[in-house]
Amino acid sequence: MPKTIVEVKNLKKVYGKNEVLKDISEKVEQGQVICVIGPSGSGKSTFLRCLNVLEKPTAGKVIFEGSELTNISDKELNVLREKMGMVFQSFNLFPNMTVLENIKLAPMKVKGVSETEAETTAKELLAKVGLADKASQFPQSLSGGQQQRVAIARALAMNPEVMLFDEPTSALDPEMVGEVLKVMRDLADSGMTMIVVTHEMGFAKEVADQVWFMADGYIQEVASPDEFFSNPKSERAKDFLNKIL
Ligand code: ADP
Ligand code: MG
Repeated sequence: MPKTIVEVKNLKKVYGKNEVLKDISEKVEQGQVICVIGPSGSGKSTFLRCLNVLEKPTAGKVIFEGSELTNISDKELNVLREKMGMVFQSFNLFPNMTVLENIKLAPMKVKGVSETEAETTAKELLAKVGLADKASQFPQSLSGGQQQRVAIARALAMNPEVMLFDEPTSALDPEMVGEVLKVMRDLADSGMTMIVVTHEMGFAKEVADQVWFMADGYIQEVASPDEFFSNPKSERAKDFLNKIL
């Protein structure tokens, strides 16, 4: 039996009169890679932020590994949130810390990991993302693609159960997109559960187990990438694909 990692039930998010997420119910199983695609403004970022309750849903449930995140104390929520790594479009590295310090910080501060252990893990992760030689540099001396790989390593340092990516390559110069996608692909191959909001259709086609097409406040289609790209069901999805492909 596959283990459900994240589940949302009748998720709704409203800002003022703007019903951004209307009624979303989906599940993510352990090891699955989900690519969430859809038009700009359709609520993809809001959806990801609701998953780790960075944004409080207006209604509905978010269940992570059996715990209802929408119905627990802030203290419990913070503990569970550590298991959900998040990578943003803008890398959000701490500019006044070296690459190594950026990666070591949360495990030491939040989890109480010893400095020696945090450093060992950080170095392993840096090697994994191909940046072993950048440990003592500061973020601004790195390219965008390198900074994003550090951001991924930093999220992985907390040993998350699931990784959430919000358009991780959208802010990058084109020549740097591939190196970040490669790190993400390796992560997927290693069995990480991933929810990836992306406009990289090649990545979605090759790496996703499921594509979730989001528009007008709903997840309109859930399909394998083959099925979605060759035979989209809804008019909304056909229209979207016509515009981008
Ligand atoms: P996407 O990531 O698909 O482009 P977003 O989730 O960023 O979409 O935004 C969906 C809608 O929600 C937009 O209309 C946006 O203006 C609105 N929205 C997002 N965040 C907020 C917020 N913090 N306050 C008010 N409106 C917001
Ligand atoms: Mg967005």
